[in-house]
Amino acid sequence: MTEAARQKVNYLGYTQADWRALLEGLGEKPFHANQIMKWIHHRFAGDFSEMTDISKGLREHLDHTGELNEPEVFKELVSTDGTRKWLIKSASGSLVETVFIPEDSRGTLCVSSQVGCALDCSFCSTGKQGFNSNLHTSEIIGQLRIAMRRLAEVYPDRNRTVTNVVMMGMGEPLLNIDNVLPAVELMMDDLGYGISKRKVTVSTAGVVPGIEKLIDTTDVSLAISLHAPNDELRNELVPINKKYPIARLLDVCATYARNLGEKRTITVEYTVIDGVNDAPEHARQLSRLLQGFPCKINLIPFNPFPGTGYKRPSMTAVRAFQDRLVRDGYSVTVRTTRGDDINAACGQLVGQVADKTRRQEKYRKIQVEQAV
Ligand code: SAH
Repeated sequence: MTEAARQKVNYLGYTQADWRALLEGLGEKPFHANQIMKWIHHRFAGDFSEMTDISKGLREHLDHTGELNEPEVFKELVSTDGTRKWLIKSASGSLVETVFIPEDSRGTLCVSSQVGCALDCSFCSTGKQGFNSNLHTSEIIGQLRIAMRRLAEVYPDRNRTVTNVVMMGMGEPLLNIDNVLPAVELMMDDLGYGISKRKVTVSTAGVVPGIEKLIDTTDVSLAISLHAPNDELRNELVPINKKYPIARLLDVCATYARNLGEKRTITVEYTVIDGVNDAPEHARQLSRLLQGFPCKINLIPFNPFPGTGYKRPSMTAVRAFQDRLVRDGYSVTVRTTRGDDINAACGQLVGQVADKTRRQEKYRKIQVEQAV
């Protein structure tokens, strides 16, 4: 890529507000934003020349000043259960992963926000890679566009499409909030992908300042990766807990939910690890901890990966854990493992991080400090 090309803006990541501001600045009518966005996100235009209802002058201006580039798909893998995984090349040259999980009445896309991750949760294979780089807005929304376009090609009668998006792929979304927020906005905008705010979920390991920024900025759904009912155990599993302990995390989440109103809840994710956080006492503690907190609980049986010392619990143990919480009145679902044969399950997404020099402890710290 030449230096000039690199400096071009990628219009794929432009929100409706960005388009209106740009058009106004050019002395053009703001309603052209509607036409342009439909071309980009509904008809998957790859070039401004396709936009036949836009004046030639405007098309040429956009072509000169920017580009409309989707990230490159390096590989597409399909599981026997219909789960589909795309390995996507980021600007840094490393690969990230996007996973589509079809179910009877819905299709969930699991989207990555970073190449690698700085948070180093002890049971997550992405964390073991360390942090490499942030994805740009165009690379995040690009994952949804790629999935939508490919699914429309593979299932022309549209019986399989993305109805839900979870920012639960590689990375910590709230440590890349400046790129994640516009992407999430595009997912929910009718001129973008028109997915309901209840069906677009940002998941965080507990970056409290990031959640504070979400308040009054967005109404996206929020999930937190709790995984432990007390600080001692959570410090071990999710090290960012040492900086933002459970009480502070739940407090800011409650404020976020209250602010949204409309009986919105927070999803509490709890990866169940054999012999680590799955004892009856953990369930009791969790139940006490979450009393009065507006939430739904999602249990994820631990998915093993090479080199981990943790074990997957038996389904009986997971069900017993679930039953204890259900008895106390919680709404609790258990996430079934999908796409096992293509390593597409939670915590198994590793992509291929090229620059390993940044995987050091020092670099992790810098990234966390800078972002919060
Ligand atoms: N960083 C964000 C989003 C990515 S992880 C977050 O922490 O929420 C998506 C979910 O998968 C998180 O709840 C994460 O803790 C969980 N997860 C990670 N590794 C896992 C594994 N090996 N087995 C099961 N769940 C895992």
